[in-house]
Parts: sequence; C-alpha cells; structure tokens
Amino acid sequence: MAEQDLERLRKKLLRQREEVFHGLHDLEKDWQELAEHEIEFEEEAQKAELTELFAQLDEREQREIEEIDLALSKMAAAIYGICEGCKKSIPLARLDALPATRYCLDCGARKEEKMKIPPAFA
Ligand SMILES: [Zn+2]
Repeated sequence: MAEQDLERLRKKLLRQREEVFHGLHDLEKDWQELAEHEIEFEEEAQKAELTELFAQLDEREQREIEEIDLALSKMAAAIYGICEGCKKSIPLARLDALPATRYCLDCGARKEEKMKIPPAFA
C-alpha cells in the first residue's frame, strides 16, 4: 500500500478513535492531551490513563476502540489491509469506507452471518 494511503487511513482511524471518546464530555480534555503526543502503546503510564478512559465506554464503544487499535497495531507491523479470512489485500475503497475492517467484502459478509459483527466492522 502506498505511504500516502496508509497515512490517510491512519489519520481516519485516529479520528474515529477520538470520536468514540468524544462522547465522554468530562474526559474530552484528557483525551486531547493524550492524542497530542500520539498513542505509544509501550508507555505504561499512558496505557493506564487509556485503560481508565476505556473503562467508561459502553460495550459497543469498547469493541470499536479494540477494532481501531487492532488496525493501528497492524499498521505498525506492516500487515494492515490484509483480509483475515482469505489473506488477500482488502480493496482501498473498502478501507477508506471502513478503515478498521479486518475482512474483505466477501469474508466480511460471511463473518457477519456467523458472528453478528456490527455492520460498521463487517
Ligand atoms: Zn477475505
């Protein structure tokens, strides 16, 4: 995948992540501070703060964050955009629409039938 596409999708994921936390009004400021120095998964202190924020989300929101984090860590490992079902590249148009998706359209539709994944992540 081209560097500029990756960067664009990464920004989308970060924005989505921010939007989920946005619902928590009192925590908005905390989150913005965290976002400013980007998400360093290795840093224990930040991780603790994020865990605290995370605990205040509802189940659906937590799942959203998990999916987004998974996509971000896949980017870091340079395996982003590969379908977990068939191991083929997920088309860029699909990633643009659903940057946190783990599956191509076909596998996503199959998974959705089986596991009832919310449509946003199918
Ligand atoms: Zn697939």
